[in-house]
Amino acid sequence: MCGIFGVSGHDAAAEVTHLGLYSLQHRGQESVGIVATGDGKASALRKMGLLGDHFTPEALSGLTGRTALGHTRYSTAGSSTIENAQPALVSFRGGHISLAHNGNLTNATELRASLEAGGSIFSSTMDSEVIVHRLARAHSKAPERQLAEALQGIEGAYSLLVMIDDTLLAARDPHGWRPLIMGTLNGATVFASESCALDIVGATAVRDVEPGEIIAVDSKGMRTLQLERATPLHRCVFEYVYFARPDSRVFGGSVDRARRALGRRLATEHPAPGADFVFAVPDSSNAAALGFSDVSGLPYELALIRNHYVGRTFIQPTQAGRDAKVKVKYNPVREILAGKSVVMVDDSIVRGTTTKGLVTLIRAAGAREVHMRVSSPPITGPCWYGIDTPDRKELIAAQMSVPEIANAIGVDSLGYISLEGMLESVPDGPSGFCDSCFSGKYPTAAPTVETKMRMG
Ligand code: AMP
Repeated sequence: MCGIFGVSGHDAAAEVTHLGLYSLQHRGQESVGIVATGDGKASALRKMGLLGDHFTPEALSGLTGRTALGHTRYSTAGSSTIENAQPALVSFRGGHISLAHNGNLTNATELRASLEAGGSIFSSTMDSEVIVHRLARAHSKAPERQLAEALQGIEGAYSLLVMIDDTLLAARDPHGWRPLIMGTLNGATVFASESCALDIVGATAVRDVEPGEIIAVDSKGMRTLQLERATPLHRCVFEYVYFARPDSRVFGGSVDRARRALGRRLATEHPAPGADFVFAVPDSSNAAALGFSDVSGLPYELALIRNHYVGRTFIQPTQAGRDAKVKVKYNPVREILAGKSVVMVDDSIVRGTTTKGLVTLIRAAGAREVHMRVSSPPITGPCWYGIDTPDRKELIAAQMSVPEIANAIGVDSLGYISLEGMLESVPDGPSGFCDSCFSGKYPTAAPTVETKMRMG
């Protein structure tokens, strides 16, 4: 998954982008980059690691111009290299093209092979580079038409920010998989993956970029192009469950409200009578645990403390890194847990490694019974559209039944929210969402192996 941010028409475009990216760091922690443009020149800064580690005021001062875009990235193993850091920036017909992508293209391998057969030379393993090459080959004059031409025949998930010379373009795929919101800031136009990034720069939210829409902004003003839109839409329900920040609005709905509703529904479907209290696996499950507490009447406790200096465990691409990080990341509070029967709420179980480690910690802290409740259904398939879920063989729910999982992770009881319970709990549900990793119903053909080298 990735975070994207862009601004057009601001004297401090790179600084605004830098600030906005701070609120999108949770969407990707492997690399970060900003490209700024003005007076026909473009400059880029791309680094591995976190934003705060590299983007000093001196480094930012080299990024001049009134238009900028930025990207925070995470990837699967093998593609975590600086060549794959975004935004991409290429020179083209005396000008330049820059691109930041959130999502995963499902037919990138085929498109890349045909471009390479025609002489294109790729400089990264990212699927997004296909779009850059197609932009360079497009014949249309107006930048928004050029992007529309480049996107023809591209399948899969993309929320995009593109700069063609001084024009900033925003686009979402026809299914609307990934979020993208537009705002204004003192006359400048701002785009961001999540509304929390508009908040941090002081921008006012205007509306979402629509599925299938292209918006162009430059000195001539704003132009929009509505291309074909899928029916139904396939907005990623996992954005509400786990990925987006709870202080954001995505797809027009509040992430916090969605998570509380998921927790309430979970408590209705899988109550835990006799338990002493409920606690969350922080931070992504806090709101769901509050919802569970509301309906169950169980007190909400802070039984597990998260170390904020450690990133999301999953975002470590190797299994060894993930295992060691569970203990570094979480510590139980013995005084709360000792002798108690407890409900632990988490938003998802993926491989089961974090969860198993957590249950061991909770029991070692003295809990008498551990009842686990999960605010998304069993994940039985990989995501092809930009969330970094592993192959089916690593997904615990693809290999085991719910009672077997309960046994494997060592809990006294395990309850997952139902698929319909989840879809009915999210804003604007139950239809128009992608639930393929839960339901196995994928709206596109399968990507080939290489397209797993995602940047999204
Ligand atoms: P595990 O126990 O190994 O299945 O990991 C489950 C934990 O990973 C949960 O606490 C989730 O909040 C978190 N999680 C779920 N999906 C992702 C993802 N795509 N990236 C990072 N963390 C995730």
